[in-house]
Amino acid sequence: YTKKHKIAQYTVYSEELDQQSVYRLTIERELKSALTKQEMSLHYQPIIDLKNNRLSAMEALIRWNHPELGFIPPDFFIPISEETGQIVSLGRWVLYTACAQNKAWQDQGHPPIKICVNISTIQLQQLDFVQTVIEILEETGLNAKWLELEVTESILLVDTELLKNSLHQLKELGVSMSIDDFGTGFTSLSYLRQFSFDRIKIDRSFVGDISKDLNGKAITATIISLAHTLNMTVVAEGIEDDTQLAFLQGKKCDEGQGYYFGRPLPAALHDLTTVYKK
Ligand code: C2E
Ligand code: MG
Ligand code: MG
Ligand code: MG
Repeated sequence: YTKKHKIAQYTVYSEELDQQSVYRLTIERELKSALTKQEMSLHYQPIIDLKNNRLSAMEALIRWNHPELGFIPPDFFIPISEETGQIVSLGRWVLYTACAQNKAWQDQGHPPIKICVNISTIQLQQLDFVQTVIEILEETGLNAKWLELEVTESILLVDTELLKNSLHQLKELGVSMSIDDFGTGFTSLSYLRQFSFDRIKIDRSFVGDISKDLNGKAITATIISLAHTLNMTVVAEGIEDDTQLAFLQGKKCDEGQGYYFGRPLPAALHDLTTVYKK
């Protein structure tokens, strides 16, 4: 390779980087006005009780449809909003909208279910997070027992008095807590016990492996028994086929979520009277 060649390569590479950072800056800028421009919405995905195939909860998942940029996936913009701090107002909007929707379902006469809301580690570390939850429950009229907050394992690495107090206060309020994407991070098992979470959600990568290899079976079975040993209920994410469902039911997994039961959809497209019989 000649020096010139290397320079040429480098130039191409840095141009790509520039394009990426321009896109990122655009996203950062557009995120600021996305809420006021009503570009954000929530979709809801059913969580099914695997003992009786009934709906037990809905998970709220944020959707961003930008008029020019199109659909931008949450896995892309949530991390950016966490870096810019935008997640705090975005997360408040999600929590409010999801609680209001769950109350509306109850007011329409549907049997009450839980609403599961993803909460960023950044949100949970805000001084006024618990106060925000209290206000939203008051404003929407939703009883705390129908709200569940999903946090990822990264929260277990945060060892502060503020976090312990907040988790304790949320528990006192009657809000449930679950650990999302379980198995992908570094969970200290002693923390898991100390914080007394209600539920574990097995990451969908392991559930997907059930029909592919033995490791998927071994890992999901181990997580289910771990959860039960610690008196937690366990939800399997990303169930897509009969093989996975049958295996999980055989291992006494409590609940399931995935395209097999239903995709995330706007509230208006859900019929809650449907019994999920498969
Ligand atoms: P998550 O909380 O683990 O949500 C589950 C993700 O798996 C969702 O992706 C859902 O659409 C997808 N999924 C569900 N069932 C299946 C299946 O059977 N197969 C496959 N392949 N995928 C399935 P989505 O909606 O793109 O969200 C991605 C992640 O973005 C979420 O993962 C969550 O970490 C984050 N997120 C979404 N909404 C919010 C929010 O309002 N606040 C925060 N902080 N994070 C959010
Ligand atoms: Mg989740
Ligand atoms: Mg998950
Ligand atoms: Mg996830």
